[in-house]
Amino acid sequence: VNIELINTGSELMLGRVLNTHQQWLCRQLADHGYVVSRQVAISDSAGDIQAAVREALGRADLVITTGGLGPTSDDLTRDRVAALLGRSLHTDADTLVRLEEFYRQRKRRMPDRVRVQAQVPTGAIILPNQHGTAPGLALEVEAGRFRSGGRSWLILLPGPPRELHPMFSNQVVPLLRERLPLDQPYACLNLRTTGIPESRLEEAISGPLERFVAQGLDLGYCARVGEVDVRLAAHGTSAGALIAEAEAVLRRLLPEAIYGTGDVRLEDVVVRQLTEQKQTVIVAESCTGGLIAHRLTNVPGASAVFLGGFVTYANALKQSLLGVRDETLAAHGAVSEETAREMATGARASCGADYAVSVTGIAGPSGGTESKPVGTVFLGLASVRGVEVTKCFNPFDRETFKQVTSQQALDALRRAILAG
Ligand code: ATP
Ligand code: MG
Repeated sequence: VNIELINTGSELMLGRVLNTHQQWLCRQLADHGYVVSRQVAISDSAGDIQAAVREALGRADLVITTGGLGPTSDDLTRDRVAALLGRSLHTDADTLVRLEEFYRQRKRRMPDRVRVQAQVPTGAIILPNQHGTAPGLALEVEAGRFRSGGRSWLILLPGPPRELHPMFSNQVVPLLRERLPLDQPYACLNLRTTGIPESRLEEAISGPLERFVAQGLDLGYCARVGEVDVRLAAHGTSAGALIAEAEAVLRRLLPEAIYGTGDVRLEDVVVRQLTEQKQTVIVAESCTGGLIAHRLTNVPGASAVFLGGFVTYANALKQSLLGVRDETLAAHGAVSEETAREMATGARASCGADYAVSVTGIAGPSGGTESKPVGTVFLGLASVRGVEVTKCFNPFDRETFKQVTSQQALDALRRAILAG
């Protein structure tokens, strides 16, 4: 299936809005075995929209547009597409009822302009909008109109992400499965790893996976800050089995580095582990400025396991809140194994958490020394088994430094829970 994506919106061209639909839709489609072959972003001009859709329909089996379905004067997609396809627009009664209901529920008067969103081109399949007003539209374009060969599908989706995402997952995916099925079965699996750099990961697994690649396994890596995804995909009747075998090999090779599958985040895994073990954690952060606590509290249900955190940036607070000793700071400095140890011990003792994580480091750009260069981090982990301190080196810009350091801290916690 040849697929093209058209993102409309002058705000995209002006750099006011990041085109997240490009990534999100490509990603969703790819996960279902549909790979986008071309993508363009264009402004909200009638001529551009019509030209882009015409061109794409000249090549593709499926064209998806985003944006421009709303009620304002810059929302031209529905109108321009109907004109291009030579179809008239009529008011869809069900959609109009839904629009009126949308405003009634919110106790707001429905502006007249909104009615335009109930206008649909002849023959369109209507994708009701569960989170907004403009419905999506799916149109089958007859063979021969824009390209020789088969017919095409044109799917128009609204711009706001919170409207587009559920519409795509709940309505477009089933429609594609039914109307544009893949030639052969498809399976894919995303394994999330942390703690091993991309190049070393590749070195470790590419050899053992060679025989699967020879059988058609598609192996991909995606490195992000502090983690690497390994993506396994395959087509054909044995796709599922091939991926399961490759996964088993990877899990044997990387028993600890793989922390989850799909889109799961490291903090999700940690909160789940702690919840299952009925255990709690507290954090004592210096150089991450609260990021570890922030990440943990992004997870629903964190309150059952996350007791709280100290952000002790100044030495005085490390002393008064965590009980780090004068002598320790004087002899070893704030960024030291000893300080990390006392921070973790002090935090854990403060309220009897099962685990305490501490971080102290030099984010830079200044403050480094020969023995402790910028990027040096000491990470403490206290539990019933005692305190362990790990030294890390993260010589990055401050935000990356914080992200990587928080990742290492969460990972140390994850591994400690696994081992416990
Ligand atoms: P509305 O009814 O809100 O006008 P619409 O279908 O007409 O919806 P647009 O007007 O094109 O959609 O976009 C509405 C908003 O959705 C934009 O202001 C922007 O915040 C967001 N948006 C649109 N396109 C994208 C995109 N490609 N990536 C991320 N956000 C987008
Ligand atoms: Mg709009």
